[in-house]
Amino acid sequence: MNQKELLINKIAQDKIDFHLGLHLLLEDKYDFKQLFTTLHYYILNSIPEKSDYNSKTYQKAVNSIPLRPTYTPVVILQKFSPKIAFNKLAVLPENENKKTITCLLWIFKITDTERRTTECKNGCGHFWHEIN
Ligand SMILES: [Zn+2]
Repeated sequence: MNQKELLINKIAQDKIDFHLGLHLLLEDKYDFKQLFTTLHYYILNSIPEKSDYNSKTYQKAVNSIPLRPTYTPVVILQKFSPKIAFNKLAVLPENENKKTITCLLWIFKITDTERRTTECKNGCGHFWHEIN
């Protein structure tokens, strides 16, 4: 796990405040493609419904993103199914990048928390769920 991956997992597990963590994730030179790929992978992995990923928890996450509902990435996530939405987010102009990462980090925090409190509850062996 690299530093960014460790940070993402700490944010998801409430070991670092969401907004502080987001700030740390996006400071200096951050690699959008790398963060996007990591978060995309993490989100899909954390959702049990592998056919379309459109779970109740995913919907709850998308509908509670802490950004204005009129922002383009939020609109896309609310309007399209997960697979289509992620394809669209990947090719948005650069000035949407930080908003996109904010959305994905929020979604992962919600979907990972759901997984930790359900299927991971009695021990799961996910090494990233063992960090301090
Ligand atoms: Zn786990």
